[in-house]
Amino acid sequence: MRPLTDRDSEQWWERTAAGEFVVQRCDSCGTLRFPARAYCHRCRTRGWRWWPVAPAGHVESWIVSHQPFLPGATEPYVVVMVRLTDAAECVMYGNWRGARQPVAGEPVRACLTTVGEGVTLVDWAPADDGGGTG
Ligand SMILES: [Zn+2]
Repeated sequence: MRPLTDRDSEQWWERTAAGEFVVQRCDSCGTLRFPARAYCHRCRTRGWRWWPVAPAGHVESWIVSHQPFLPGATEPYVVVMVRLTDAAECVMYGNWRGARQPVAGEPVRACLTTVGEGVTLVDWAPADDGGGTG
């Protein structure tokens, strides 16, 4: 189940597979954006570059899917929508990796998960999960 890619998002997948966590940054106005687009939605400029941001955010909402989307998966799984800490205009969707249900507004960290074929997915786990600052 390789995610569909285009020319811009292809680079994003390559960087994610390399362990980088980036969004696009407009060369003209500095707006951060994700997912990858050819133009800035603010100023319509074409120029942009990849911009590293902290792999962290807050849960904005989530869905529980009961569709057997993955072969062999029978359990319902949770997909969270995360607003990035360093890029408040950007939201990412990913599989929830917590042992419990997410809580609205809770801090989370990205977990880069390689699923094979050079594809790395961004999953999300509670920020305090697994040896935090506790
Ligand atoms: Zn711009």
